[in-house]
Amino acid sequence: MATASVPPVTTSPADRLSTPVDGERVVGALSPSRAGDFLACPLLYRFRSIDRLPEPPSPDAARGTVVHKVLEDLFERPAAERTPEVADGMLAAAWERVRAERPELAGLFDGAAPEQEARWLRSCSTVLARWFTLEDPTRLEPAEREHYVEAVLDSGLLLRGFIDRLDVAPDGAVRVVDYKTGRAPGPGFEAGALFQMRFYALVLWRTTGVVPAMLQLVYLGDGTVVRYEPDEHDLRATERKVEAVWAAISLARASGDWRPSPSRLCGWCAHQALCPAFGGTPPPLPQDGGPEAPDEPDVATSDG
Ligand code: SF4
Repeated sequence: MATASVPPVTTSPADRLSTPVDGERVVGALSPSRAGDFLACPLLYRFRSIDRLPEPPSPDAARGTVVHKVLEDLFERPAAERTPEVADGMLAAAWERVRAERPELAGLFDGAAPEQEARWLRSCSTVLARWFTLEDPTRLEPAEREHYVEAVLDSGLLLRGFIDRLDVAPDGAVRVVDYKTGRAPGPGFEAGALFQMRFYALVLWRTTGVVPAMLQLVYLGDGTVVRYEPDEHDLRATERKVEAVWAAISLARASGDWRPSPSRLCGWCAHQALCPAFGGTPPPLPQDGGPEAPDEPDVATSDG
């Protein structure tokens, strides 16, 4: 499941999934979102993955969740029914389901003017309608949707996450597709999103032996599609980068030195009040050092 906004903290499917790597030696776990947190700001990683501080729900994150749900469910319909009108008609029910499944989102519009929720739902419609200008679901039969993937590197580091959609061509070529309900990052800021896609490609390569032919980011906020063709060289470099991120996280964990790294992302950070860069003081670190495998995969349907 990102634009410039900070992705939401999620709950771990490791608690509810029996995984193919059960029984393997695992020294830690990393998802692209949490790796991205650390790369953006080590203190943000600490707040989310070590302290596990709650974050208030945001309309943007909720929009991402609901739209992803419709994009997932639409493919359960026959191809001819995958129309903009049908998708739009699925939004209200998807929002109801998300509210039931994610209690933290249920009260998003509590106390707000009634038209605020209606306006937000219209924004979901707009984003969803834009998808039909970019892809034609009547001509797509995804191999997987909201697909949980994981792989253990030689070092014992577990990589995991959810892939929005996997397309497999008749010749076996694999395309990894990720939907972003926000706008495409400006020039010079695409690296984070492409890192996430290369991360997924690395996991697929490690588990299937096949390098995905195409990584495709679909930005529904502004109708931009970014495509990238990875190769083994890219994925080896991604593996080295992921290992380096984990080494840096382990070092910070051992030293307790989680430095703030202010950037434009601070504008979306829920933890400014606790951040020294904004005059705040972080809470004491958990006595037990926090969760042993603190990282969590991106939950299906989030924009991260
Ligand atoms: S406010 Fe900025 S510097 Fe501080 S924790 Fe959040 S992202 Fe990091």
